[in-house]
Amino acid sequence: MNASNQSFATQGAASEQADIIIVGGGMVGCTTALLLAEQGKRVIVLERFEPKSIDADSPMGLRVSALNLASEQLLAEVGCWSDIAAVRVCPYRRLAVWEDQLEPVEFRASDIEQSHLGHIVENDVVQMVLWQRCLQHELIDCRLIQAIESLSQTDDRATLTVDGQLYQAQLVLACDGGLSRLRQLAGIGVEGWQYQQHALVVGIDTHVESQDITWQQMAATGPKAFLPLAQGKGSLVWYHHADEVARLKQLPAAQLKSELLQAFPAAVGDFTIEQVASFPLTRQHAQVYAKGRVVLLGDSAHLINPLAGQGVNLGFRDVRAFADVIAERPDWASDAVLQSYERRRKADNLAMMSAMDAIYATFSNDLPPLKLARQLGLSLVNKLPAARTLATKYACGVTGSRSI
Ligand SMILES: Cc1cc2nc3c(=O)[nH]c(=O)nc-3n(C[C@H](O)[C@H](O)[C@H](O)COP(=O)(O)OP(=O)(O)OC[C@H]3O[C@@H](n4cnc5c(N)ncnc54)[C@H](O)[C@@H]3O)c2cc1C
Repeated sequence: MNASNQSFATQGAASEQADIIIVGGGMVGCTTALLLAEQGKRVIVLERFEPKSIDADSPMGLRVSALNLASEQLLAEVGCWSDIAAVRVCPYRRLAVWEDQLEPVEFRASDIEQSHLGHIVENDVVQMVLWQRCLQHELIDCRLIQAIESLSQTDDRATLTVDGQLYQAQLVLACDGGLSRLRQLAGIGVEGWQYQQHALVVGIDTHVESQDITWQQMAATGPKAFLPLAQGKGSLVWYHHADEVARLKQLPAAQLKSELLQAFPAAVGDFTIEQVASFPLTRQHAQVYAKGRVVLLGDSAHLINPLAGQGVNLGFRDVRAFADVIAERPDWASDAVLQSYERRRKADNLAMMSAMDAIYATFSNDLPPLKLARQLGLSLVNKLPAARTLATKYACGVTGSRSI
């Protein structure tokens, strides 16, 4: 199977050669490939599943991400944002958070002098556009593969055996998600745990032409969130104990709707259920981001509680940092460069993971002092425009006029 439109690798020789091999042609892998190829690096992308072909008439996907302004800017830089937006995306201009029946804290794009805070986008649409762009790039060779059999390394090269074929490069990037096979082959350990809660994701038709607000209501059992999607669709996310999510997931649509209407705030309005799925929630952090010739980016390095929708936004920050350190140095594949990448990203990712855990722990506890503290916290953010602006900028990946 070979999805490449043009192959620079040495066909039929003992091994296929490139400067960099990327395992995983998802959002993070393809974006990395495009940035590195723009620097003149020859890249091979190895992906297990051919990305779906989606147009504006395709059913709405259930795996969606709230992409912040920094991520949008990165996708524009690799020439893909306008094509993604042309398929379908939903801008959101307001983000509301509240607890029980208290007054919501509302973060607005206008607070940070932006037209929007981000877009909710189907992961499959982003991946499809990026993959197609990779196929067109003369320095990128995309391969559909079945299995990575082995990894061996010397001081300056890594060799992968994939479906019986050898692939060699100076660096091999693991962009193959949370269960990363490459991370395991490199012997990089992870720390983490499964949260007690799972996420029930319900794809709905809101019967409203367009919505510009995403909201989250905090509750002791877990948050309840709404993400607006293009074409009047939306996504309801209900974080709850695993067995409760399993019970809800198998309910007939009418019964599930009535439970959603009871549990969710009135802001949800009327809707028709179109699809239901559930996801376990995992926190996972790799012990190191680089070992030998192997480097981790995106979910292979970190899985974060999706509470604040930061997962792939952090992955895109890894991509940005990695491409920057590589561009800065002639010895781009050296250990010093890889350590510099790890220093730039590990602490930042850990800080976001810890912040999510602090929020998760604070809101899933009904001890009166904690309840009072968080209510005070939310109302303080509401009353202090400067604090609200700072929080909004951070969530959107914007500092001053620059993106982070
Ligand atoms: C319920 C839920 C809600 C979320 N909401 C948000 C949100 O609102 N905002 C946000 O930023 N993030 C969100 N996330 C997180 C986001 O989906 C992930 O961070 C993102 O998908 C990670 O991208 P990635 O490219 O690193 O990995 P993946 O998306 O996992 O892509 C990995 C790619 O590698 C391929 N692959 C895997 N193994 C191999 C192999 N052995 N060989 C070759 N190819 C392989 C896969 O087929 C895939 O294409 C959410 C996650 C969940 C579970």
